[in-house]
Amino acid sequence: MDKSKLGLIHIYTGDGKGKTTAALGLILRASGRGLNVVLGQFLKGRETGELHTLSLLPGVKVFRGKPLTKFSFQMNEQEKAEVLQGHNEFIKELASYCNNNDIDLLVLDEVIGACGTHLLDERLLIDFLKHKPAHLEVVMTGRNPSMELLDMADYVSEICKRKHPFDKGIPAREGIEK
Ligand code: ATP
Ligand code: MG
Repeated sequence: MDKSKLGLIHIYTGDGKGKTTAALGLILRASGRGLNVVLGQFLKGRETGELHTLSLLPGVKVFRGKPLTKFSFQMNEQEKAEVLQGHNEFIKELASYCNNNDIDLLVLDEVIGACGTHLLDERLLIDFLKHKPAHLEVVMTGRNPSMELLDMADYVSEICKRKHPFDKGIPAREGIEK
């Protein structure tokens, strides 16, 4: 296929369900066309269902940050500093991997949430986006992207919550939310 048309930047944001699953759907499509894909997951706690299936897809490689045991608002300053350092190393590792390998699609799941909670230095992400390989397509997910990230994106898709069962007390279910 003609990979010269690749290289655009996507943001999937908003307060409704479907940001990560939209990104996973794109991975499925890209893999089906023989693209080489990297998924990097930020702000991740326990393993999610997709990790079991993604490893079966041709050309897909998954990188996970160190699993978190707390939400950012529950962390003390030292814990936040450790997570920040871990995420900063993680984005550098992903950038280096994509710069040195023939990668067509990079999905940075929850990278926007990591920036918004100051658990990732957004400058590192922006520098990477500015200097990324020209034909690397990049997808970022998470709520409340900064204006600078929005300005850099070619696609901005906002998923608006009209209803979510969490609001009537139904917690995340295996196979659907995790
Ligand atoms: P999904 O992974 O299901 O596509 P998402 O990526 O859009 O969801 P996140 O903001 O990453 O959603 O939320 C993490 C978890 O919270 C997921 O399990 C998701 O299904 C769930 N979730 C998404 N939106 C809401 C909401 N408005 N209220 C409560 N839980 C939500
Ligand atoms: Mg998500």
